[in-house]
Amino acid sequence: MNAPTPAKVLAPTVKLLINGQLVESQSTQWRDVVNPATQQVLARVPFATPDEVNAAVANAREAFKTWRKTPIGQRARIFLKLQQLIRDNMKELAALLTAEQGKTLPDAEGDVFRGLEVVEHAANIGSLQLGELANNVANGVDTYSVLQPLGVCAGITPFNFPAMIPLWMFPMAIATGNTFVLKPSEQDPMVTMRLCELALEAGIPPGVLNVVHGGEDVVNAICDHPDIKAISFVGSTKVGTHVYNRASLAGKRVQCMMGAKNHAIVMPDAHKEQTLNALLGAAFGAAGQRCMALSVAVLVGEAQQWIPELVAKARTLKVNAGTEPGTDVGPLVSCAALSRVEGLIERGLADGATLELDGRKPQVPGYDSGNFVGPTVFSGVKPGMSIYDQEIFGPVLCLVAADHLDQAIDFINANPNGNGTAIFTQSGAAARKFQEDIDVGQVGINVPIPVPVPLFSFTGSRASKLGDLGPYGKQVVLFYTQTKTVTARWFDDSTTSQGVNTTISLR
Ligand code: NAD
Repeated sequence: MNAPTPAKVLAPTVKLLINGQLVESQSTQWRDVVNPATQQVLARVPFATPDEVNAAVANAREAFKTWRKTPIGQRARIFLKLQQLIRDNMKELAALLTAEQGKTLPDAEGDVFRGLEVVEHAANIGSLQLGELANNVANGVDTYSVLQPLGVCAGITPFNFPAMIPLWMFPMAIATGNTFVLKPSEQDPMVTMRLCELALEAGIPPGVLNVVHGGEDVVNAICDHPDIKAISFVGSTKVGTHVYNRASLAGKRVQCMMGAKNHAIVMPDAHKEQTLNALLGAAFGAAGQRCMALSVAVLVGEAQQWIPELVAKARTLKVNAGTEPGTDVGPLVSCAALSRVEGLIERGLADGATLELDGRKPQVPGYDSGNFVGPTVFSGVKPGMSIYDQEIFGPVLCLVAADHLDQAIDFINANPNGNGTAIFTQSGAAARKFQEDIDVGQVGINVPIPVPVPLFSFTGSRASKLGDLGPYGKQVVLFYTQTKTVTARWFDDSTTSQGVNTTISLR
């Protein structure tokens, strides 16, 4: 994270959202939001003051008193309206996202669309938040459960999906009857704010959705605030672990989706053309800045002979600004990210990996100051090398060799991360063995980026996740609610008294 800079004039300011109003922060600390293809300053984002964070939480707490009792159909209809508004404004949202984050316009639409799917799911909250009832658990006694909202919940989001990940959080939290305080990434908060404006237009009442901007201090204030009941975090493993520990200690329910190192196994019987295309799309799309990017390919047996073809295909991908038609690989989000990725490529060479394709310093006419790295491929990669041990979060694919499937599975299971993985094969038996034995949360079979749709939940595991429940789908309904069970008996005038019962049993 860049250090906050003193306030500047000229570029427009990103507003806070408190009690239904977009308000100018009184902070003295601001940071530029920068177009990563051009270095143009698009806006300035504040690091909210402690008073502003407290005001956001206080308004959310007040709004919870009425929102929690708002009829379920009324809540659901807001998300029906929101999904339509997002569709109507898709092009504008994608353009804003590309300007501040860098990904290509079609991929930016994909980012918004994967969030839109969660909004559609939130509109179905009536059937998702049903309780259960058991009739006659004892004589004349019924037991039923209700899923009640927790109160004020908070979300902290990363830079790489500034539309999808905020939409993983606030729609489901609010649809289940909670109120919300969102802390977007300070690197690209503009599209997130536009989505929140659309949510207000869709009918979210004042105080139900609030937004504060900032970095470490604001995140710590959210972790410590006694009126916040639950926190959903998505970001790096280092920050997520800190958030999990700090907020858990403060008694909150916490879920953290964190960093990754996703491996794909390529079996020699795989469909070669489809597999190479899938590998390249998943390794280099979004310039490798996806938590589900495939950053390691384990080539089994004769699949190792596919390296020249893979490299030749990678060479054809177009590196350019995300706004230019036909771009495959846009810029990295910041100058800091660029020097980090270039530094790791240097370390890969120093550690003895073979640089099959060097994407550093590509020529991008018209965008000389953009943060570009082209597709980069290393072979002969081993654990212990920085390019294997660290999440690069750039367009760098590491190739590893294995003799057979068991060896490839053991290799992946020895990596601490468990976010996503995939196998490419035409053998049902190999795919089934992989599905059974691989210790990773999200598994693709000839699907390179197996992020589940919201009928299911995001299911990263091991070092990629802290907390039990996923950030959308059925699991998140449980995350944002507490289960209350009611055991009830009703007497009518003709009921005969059973006398005093001094046992634990229900009669
Ligand atoms: P990040 O951890 O730097 O930032 C995430 C959030 O934490 C931001 O809102 C940021 O303001 C805040 N933050 C940053 N430094 C902090 C600190 N020291 N203390 C408290 N808060 C701090 O992550 P990023 O660079 O924005 O995003 C990339 C990372 O997110 C990658 O590791 C990627 O794998 C991960 N990610 C994971 C998933 C998933 O579902 N598992 C999805 C997307 C991204």
